[in-house]
This record gives sequence, C-alpha cells and structure tokens, in this order.
Amino acid sequence: MAKPPICVICGEKMDEINGGDMVWFKRSESDLKWNKWQEENGFPEDHPPYGQIFCSKHITAAQQLSHLTYGEAFKILKNKFPSKKSKTSFKL
Ligand SMILES: [Zn+2]
Repeated sequence: MAKPPICVICGEKMDEINGGDMVWFKRSESDLKWNKWQEENGFPEDHPPYGQIFCSKHITAAQQLSHLTYGEAFKILKNKFPSKKSKTSFKL
C-alpha cells in the first residue's frame, strides 16, 4: 500500500493546488542499494526513500536542501520547523 501523501514535516495533507509536491533528494548509499534491490525484485518505484512529500509551507525549504540526502535534509528541516506534536516519528 502506498503511503498517504502527507507532509513529512507537519503531517498536513499534501495540497498540490497550493504548491505541495514531492521533493527528490540526493541518493545516499543505502538509497542506491535500495534502487538495486528494487531493480532485482521488480519492486515499483512509487515511494523511494529519497522522494518525500512536502506541503506548500515546507516545500521551498525542502527544495533548497535537495542537494543533500533525505536523512541530512530532514535533520535540518526538523530544526528549522520544530513540530509541536511529537506524534510523527521518523525512522531512518
Ligand atoms: Zn508541511
């Protein structure tokens, strides 16, 4: 099952109309391994670890960090936008 399109920073539903979108980050070594595994297993690339959803409020900041891997960018974004709710857990 595909993940619902919600912003990884705030958990808001992706609002494409207002400019929310997916951001493709630099692939880390583990992402490259994931690509290889995916190729070998014929796994569809619908939600790779280096492609993440952002709402219109967070997309600009995310795009500015897309030269980093998602893990690196996420740390910076979380510092920049500390969430009030600690409900959303993040696993690398
Ligand atoms: Zn957001």
